[in-house]
Amino acid sequence: MQGMMMNQPLSIIEILRYAAEAHPGGEVVSVRTEGDLHRESYAEAYARAAQLAHGLTGLEIAQGDRVATLAWNGHRHFELYYGVSGMGAVCHTINPRLSAEQMLYIIHHAGDRVLCFDTTFLPIVEGIADQLPKGLHLVAMTDRAHMPESPLNLLCYEELLDGQDTTFDWPQLPEDTAAALCYTSGTTGNPKGALYTHRSTVLHAMGESIALKDSLTEGARILPVVPLFHVNAWGLPYAAPLTGASLIMPGPKLDGASLFDLMEAEGVTSAWGVPTVWLGLRAEIDKRGRNPGKFAQVVVGGSAAPRSMIEGFENSGVDVCHAWGMTEMSPIGTHGFLSAPHRELPQEEQLRLKCKQGRRMFGVELKIVDEEGNRLPHDGKAVGELYVRGNAIVSGYFNNEEASAQAIDAEGWFGTGDVAHIDERGFLSIQDRSKDLIKSGGEWISSIDLENIAMAHPKVANCAVIAIAHPKWDERPLLVVVPKYANDPPTLAEIHEMMLGSMAKWQLPDDIAFVEDLPMTATGKVSKLTLRERFADYTLP
Ligand code: ADP
Repeated sequence: MQGMMMNQPLSIIEILRYAAEAHPGGEVVSVRTEGDLHRESYAEAYARAAQLAHGLTGLEIAQGDRVATLAWNGHRHFELYYGVSGMGAVCHTINPRLSAEQMLYIIHHAGDRVLCFDTTFLPIVEGIADQLPKGLHLVAMTDRAHMPESPLNLLCYEELLDGQDTTFDWPQLPEDTAAALCYTSGTTGNPKGALYTHRSTVLHAMGESIALKDSLTEGARILPVVPLFHVNAWGLPYAAPLTGASLIMPGPKLDGASLFDLMEAEGVTSAWGVPTVWLGLRAEIDKRGRNPGKFAQVVVGGSAAPRSMIEGFENSGVDVCHAWGMTEMSPIGTHGFLSAPHRELPQEEQLRLKCKQGRRMFGVELKIVDEEGNRLPHDGKAVGELYVRGNAIVSGYFNNEEASAQAIDAEGWFGTGDVAHIDERGFLSIQDRSKDLIKSGGEWISSIDLENIAMAHPKVANCAVIAIAHPKWDERPLLVVVPKYANDPPTLAEIHEMMLGSMAKWQLPDDIAFVEDLPMTATGKVSKLTLRERFADYTLP
């Protein structure tokens, strides 16, 4: 029997309209490339999104057209998220750290019609200009006074908005209309596009607002260090206005001291980003001997947060939420905020839980399977390939039949490429990306586990563990370390001693190598692919 309730299609612009009406105190504060600090309420952002939609209509952008962005976290980027999706076009975020070749590939693959970019990235745009699609509109995201000199024919973002009507007749779109597009960084092969819908985005924002409610509350002030140019800044541009939290956008200034000062000045309550960013902030906190005034929570994910980092934050009174997800999941899958009964556990037990990647959020199902695809129990021991299912998870990739065909299993689940176990309480533990696991004598060694321990050594600034080919064991682990003090690096014996408490002897790294810094991917993670290439000819003792 059919129910008798209204059926309003879920729509992204409704989030901002709601915030403008229901959360008058919510605002977007932005460190801009112009050098100033800009503030706008959600009501002002909603009006400017309308002006933007008129401006883009003037450029003959229509429903379904792709509008690309190449920009830092700031209010104009936020307005693009809403104005573009709201008018029925697709907001395609581009990661400025991609190579020119990858960037050109995705701009052509996406069929972008407009490219809006922060002036910082003009050299990138000029560098690829002669290979860009004909007729692509180039919009510099600034005002007339700050327009850069360039031989290119540039439009000015503020002029596109100037004088336009502050209301727009937003079309009522079917909720599965494409709204946003983000390419995975594609460590192998070409990048693949996750094409989000209005429905998936709104459902994800609602699920996230419930799961991460400790951070996402009316009046909270959230610092997304995680970029709007990749994985939707973990959904914050949608979940923050939905809940009435404000967004404090750091723009291009992401070093520890700049983040600390911004957090202090703006009363940031919660900061979100990948572990590498927090290395810088933690160093600054240690230097000043205190946290920024209102700092209460950190959400960390994108790669495994080492225990030493989690412990450092917790000991200084900052609640850590370790989250896991991926581009294909909009992106959040699990979160590590503890529930009330977990908060009653002894400190050490709580810490152990926080080192895991947390529980699934509503709308995300998890399963782990063995090599034949048989389901494994959630007993905290059985390790298998992690698959996910839900309404904010890709069903395939944009214009890529081959990759789409491989992405989904026979039961309709998406294969994450991660290897994990899940305990009885539902806590996920990522052991590794399957391609980063070390296969030694038919057994697996988790590089993440080894890194986690080594990171706690006082002479280690950063580290990574990679597999080195071995004639007898197939592969053995090599520990690559950035020493904290160049003249006093840690020894392998010291590290082994630390590891022996929680790892078996055969799992310990065979050798230690020192580097000045670790290669990073475009999304701020250690690039193990590059490291493996660099150490391809390494001979273990
Ligand atoms: P990219 O490879 O483009 O950076 P994503 O940002 O989508 O792609 O990365 C998703 C992957 O990042 C996951 O599949 C997982 O391997 C890793 N990851 C994300 N969060 C965590 C975490 N908290 N712990 C360990 N690994 C993580």
